[in-house]
Amino acid sequence: MGGEFTLVIKMNTSQEEISCTWQDESNCIECSLDEKLICRYNKKQWQYLISTLIPWTLLEAGGLIFIGFVPGKWWPLITYSGVTIAFFFLGIKSYVLCSHCPFYAEEGKILHCPANTGLPKFWKYRPGPMNTFEKIILTTFFFFLFTWGLGWEIYGIYFAAKNFGFSSLAFTLSLSVVTLLTIATLTRFIVVLQKDFCPYCPNFSCPMNRVSKKIIVEYLEKNPKMKEAWEKKGFVIIKPIKTPENGEEKSDE
Ligand code: SF4
Ligand code: SF4
Repeated sequence: MGGEFTLVIKMNTSQEEISCTWQDESNCIECSLDEKLICRYNKKQWQYLISTLIPWTLLEAGGLIFIGFVPGKWWPLITYSGVTIAFFFLGIKSYVLCSHCPFYAEEGKILHCPANTGLPKFWKYRPGPMNTFEKIILTTFFFFLFTWGLGWEIYGIYFAAKNFGFSSLAFTLSLSVVTLLTIATLTRFIVVLQKDFCPYCPNFSCPMNRVSKKIIVEYLEKNPKMKEAWEKKGFVIIKPIKTPENGEEKSDE
């Protein structure tokens, strides 16, 4: 797309059905956006992301189980399990985040996307952007996910060092290694997400999304009903303007 644009985002809702992401692939022949977006489902991308997620999750769960056995605090593990199950499997995340995503527009009850393939689809696709409340819920959950297990592992090191001292140095060191591995796998997951997924994800209103405004507009132009839903929520696309001075297209993006 040759012109430039200025975009302003406000919020609200809609329920139109669309998404070239799930239309026949022949529609993509003349489109180059697949080089700039993850806009078609590719199982390998999902496998790649999951392979970075699993080590971190297992280490974090291991740390919380330790907190249950040693200091005798099981409620951090119960809280962690309850929140993540409710968020991922009982539809909270899919409502606040995924129901806005073009991957969610696929027909059927099971989601296929680069991050959460296999999860049930509880909701109807909502092509408009996330609202502020949904962004706050999602950001709070991500903060919880990234800090809860790690925080308790650090507490576990403190507890072990204080209560076992040199009599169980190996034990304290082992937990320290688990904590360092948790930090390393969490860092890797965030780096992979931010480097290989968030700059290309078509769920543009997610707080972690890093797709450029110009690409967003290009995708919206291919999906008129999504564009309409975004514009109804206050998303403004300013068309290119020709200036009298140079006769060239100009915008203030
Ligand atoms: S933006 Fe739509 S039409 Fe273009 S390549 Fe992606 S899925 Fe195909
Ligand atoms: S927002 Fe992410 S996890 Fe949700 S459907 Fe889209 S790609 Fe999948």
